[in-house]
Amino acid sequence: MGGSKSKGGVARITFTNNAPKELRLQWKPLIEWLRKVAVAEGIYVSSLTIHYHAGNRTKCPLGEADKDQPKIMLCTFYDDYDTALHELAHVATPGFHSAEWSELFVALINRWLKGTDRARAIYHACRDYRGCSKVVQRGL
Ligand SMILES: [Zn+2]
Ligand SMILES: [Zn+2]
Repeated sequence: MGGSKSKGGVARITFTNNAPKELRLQWKPLIEWLRKVAVAEGIYVSSLTIHYHAGNRTKCPLGEADKDQPKIMLCTFYDDYDTALHELAHVATPGFHSAEWSELFVALINRWLKGTDRARAIYHACRDYRGCSKVVQRGL
């Protein structure tokens, strides 16, 4: 395929703490989907780390992104497509939940999620981030 946005992609994927095979398999569709999104959007991620914690939820955030590396960390007990897009948008935009981030996050949701997943993601984005709510009100 290739194309003009061929620089995007996810280079390296790591599971922490001896994540069991079951968990790796559960995450496989999300990882493949995120790789596809990153390539299509021209967003480069050097490293995607997925935390595994046996037992109960920890105090980790659902996700984290480091724009300079650029790296993404996901720490969820379920494969959360919404959070993956949230972090991907951080990798590609300056600041923290900036206007640029809001713009891209909403665009990514609209392009890559469908049906109730998309509706739920938009609802949460507007509820949690003023910038996203502005984008949605202006754009739809
Ligand atoms: Zn964690
Ligand atoms: Zn964020």
